[in-house]
Amino acid sequence: MHNLVWTGPKMMEMKEAEVPAVGDNELLVKVEAVGICGSEIEGYLGHNSLRVPPLVMGHEFSGTVTEVGGQVQGLMRGQRVVVNPLLSCGSCNQCRKGLVQLCSQRAIVGIHRPGAFAQFVSVPASSVHVVPDELDFFRASLTEPLACSLRAARRAMERHPFANVVIFGAGTIGLLAFLVAQTLGASRIIVVDSNEARLATPQQLGAFATINPKEPNFIDKVKQWGGASGTDVVIDAAGFQPTRDAAVQIVNPGGTIMNIGLGIDHTQIPINVCIRSEISILGSFSYDAQDFHDALELLKSGKIDPTQWSEIRPLYEGNQAFQDLVNGRVAQAKIFLTPNN
Ligand SMILES: [Zn+2]
Ligand SMILES: [Zn+2]
Repeated sequence: MHNLVWTGPKMMEMKEAEVPAVGDNELLVKVEAVGICGSEIEGYLGHNSLRVPPLVMGHEFSGTVTEVGGQVQGLMRGQRVVVNPLLSCGSCNQCRKGLVQLCSQRAIVGIHRPGAFAQFVSVPASSVHVVPDELDFFRASLTEPLACSLRAARRAMERHPFANVVIFGAGTIGLLAFLVAQTLGASRIIVVDSNEARLATPQQLGAFATINPKEPNFIDKVKQWGGASGTDVVIDAAGFQPTRDAAVQIVNPGGTIMNIGLGIDHTQIPINVCIRSEISILGSFSYDAQDFHDALELLKSGKIDPTQWSEIRPLYEGNQAFQDLVNGRVAQAKIFLTPNN
């Protein structure tokens, strides 16, 4: 089979490999659609210590079951599936609490084992969800990033269900957080991104306003758009010093700042302001089983359709796709790769 192997910073090559062996409790999946994740762009550049070359990335994917391990029950060849790539041990303290995304033995398909930038990938049978025929493979492969955004947005909005929401970042995660916030009943949603091409999609899909943070007085403008209610929820899907600063300035006393963007690690935040104004600062990482399930349900409902904000390229153009993403030459929020055509 063909696969796309990351061999070092800014280098990806198509190679020939054996079709993966399938363990007793595993399935072989023929990959029909795989999205490129923002974290993989960082990985491609060599900025992510978890990703060690040579590596086949790809963790947002769907496909068709072509082989079933001897011990697997209830799944068969030909079924259309989406894979939850986050594998957990099931026995550590966090797993026992249901927080599988915080498992001490956490492993991710496409990071710790070969991923879906390949024609075939083997996965534990317990990691797949069957996809109905009405849901195409591209939308199905959005389950993973949508689960991330769903977890962040609903936890942020738990105490503020009909609030005005400000979202930093209009890449896939920010855009999906916007769509989830809309679905959950947010009032005015304001999307902020310094890449103006990316603001077109939330504008078209009903954002109250969008803004480039380089505009003069941007914080005042965002506050004004919140009207008398102000902004109870800020979701930061970027994660840099300026966005974290702005979040504290924008959010109402008693409000919630949800951090999901991993832009940089160390950041200065005025904690005394957060104490005196009882601002909740939360973090959200990937998803638990319920989030993944609910993300798939939301996609089945047809409320989220990536057609106008995504593009499709063959796997063999993957290296070019990564270069285009790195160089900011991609206006769409998501690129899907197709390994089998
Ligand atoms: Zn990802
Ligand atoms: Zn565990």
